[in-house]
Amino acid sequence: METKTIKCNKCNNDAIIFQKYSGMHLCKRHFIEDVERKIKLTIRKHYSVKRNEVIAVGLSGGKDSSTTLYILDRIFGKRPDIEIVGISIDEGIEGYRPDTISSAKELTEKLGIRLIVRSFREEYGTTMDEIAPMQREKGACSYCGVLRKSLLNKTALEIGATKLAIGHNLDDEAQTILLNHLKGDVSRMVRLAPPKELEGLVLRMKPLRQIPEKEVALYAYLHNLPLGFGGCPYAHEAMRREIRIMLNEFEVRHPGTKYALLSGFDKISGILGREFPQEGLLNCIICGQACTGELCQACKLLKRGQ
Ligand code: SF4
Repeated sequence: METKTIKCNKCNNDAIIFQKYSGMHLCKRHFIEDVERKIKLTIRKHYSVKRNEVIAVGLSGGKDSSTTLYILDRIFGKRPDIEIVGISIDEGIEGYRPDTISSAKELTEKLGIRLIVRSFREEYGTTMDEIAPMQREKGACSYCGVLRKSLLNKTALEIGATKLAIGHNLDDEAQTILLNHLKGDVSRMVRLAPPKELEGLVLRMKPLRQIPEKEVALYAYLHNLPLGFGGCPYAHEAMRREIRIMLNEFEVRHPGTKYALLSGFDKISGILGREFPQEGLLNCIICGQACTGELCQACKLLKRGQ
């Protein structure tokens, strides 16, 4: 029996994906073009890359950060006035992180991009494997996220980076927006908006914020990017997991829900920023990193200075 293939809506080739939210079937070429077009638009709209910039990329070696690095290299790699540098943070999670860091090394070697590897052990004298079993006030991911963000920013500053790209995709952004609403956390919502220049903080960019997670995975697969697999043993952020499941169910029943959450947030983020202006930054009295109080979040969590 002859099997009928579905054709791309833009040409006569076989489709490899159906985007329920746009109603489009796309072949490999038009899918890749669609992803890259959205990313270029996002960069132009929110992050305006100028001449002589150093773009650091937080590179875990997973699909999102690897795709971010790969696409930024495709867009800016030929420009002699722009340097792209990968920064991998080794949080000290046996059985998980070494594998993804070796993927990060493989990818940066393939692309001829400099990679800097920093670790919690050398910076903070501890690891997530040591923090996780301790009596803690917060979940493991809170510690890990705060410490990694701080070390990424510090390293980016040290190399003179003017932007710090991270691999948050549409699903991550939609989950975070909903999570902040459900927690009533306005200050986090303000910080989620595309950032402004702040002394001591390298401007963070999220080139994948308009790309659904499944499409990032497909893009990485089609480009044969070396990816570390396996899950982190401490990934138990319960509320985010519930929101992720709920949003995925909503997306099936109401395609476009994740995009609607993001575009609604983008429309009000300017008003939020005006109503709740971010405080000016000080320097942490222990480590010197930019923060809003006397102590930065990383030093507070590590109980430094007590
Ligand atoms: Fe860190 Fe949580 Fe991610 Fe594991 S899942 S690497 S603990 S943030």
